[in-house]
Amino acid sequence: HPPEEIQGLLSTHIAEYPDFPQPGVLFRDITPLLRDARALRRVIEHWASIIPEEIDVIVGTEARGFVLGAPLAYEIGAGFVPVRKAGKLPGTPRSRTYDLEYGTATVEIAEGALETGVRTLVVDDLLATGGTAAATVALARELGAEVLGASFLIELSALEGRTRLEGVPVSTVWSLE
Ligand code: AMP
Repeated sequence: HPPEEIQGLLSTHIAEYPDFPQPGVLFRDITPLLRDARALRRVIEHWASIIPEEIDVIVGTEARGFVLGAPLAYEIGAGFVPVRKAGKLPGTPRSRTYDLEYGTATVEIAEGALETGVRTLVVDDLLATGGTAAATVALARELGAEVLGASFLIELSALEGRTRLEGVPVSTVWSLE
């Protein structure tokens, strides 16, 4: 569990929207956290304290993995590499398609974005089923990165996303049932 201060900030700065974007999903909205300067700073500082040391690059997934991954990278002195939804990257990106509850999604990373052996942490706002993170880990490894872990602001533990990330140490600031 995070310290009481961080726990308090998260519980007051993450909004819940039932049945969005589809029935049965309780959507967690991080925008109240983003717009509060002090809360954002404290949460990023705390997050930085729980991730493995020696990270060269954070790989963040579009779009909230950009908004949180970039300040986290800055805080720990790492670089940042985006993993984007299909069709956004120029050149000849590497792609991975994975299953969603309904249909599929594709994520892409730029060829040459990660040097061989670069020590990498995969970051997103939220771990649900783990499909997005697993695809991102696979892309990073395909480019030759050493994936030291995956880290999330929020984990919906009941969905057991960690099981999709076997062999990848997972850290989360706030784990919810
Ligand atoms: P998954 O691939 O199932 O782990 O889903 C993770 C991705 O979907 C992340 O990029 C999240 O931002 C988003 N996501 C999934 N479930 C939720 C939720 N309940 N609230 C907010 N975002 C979610």
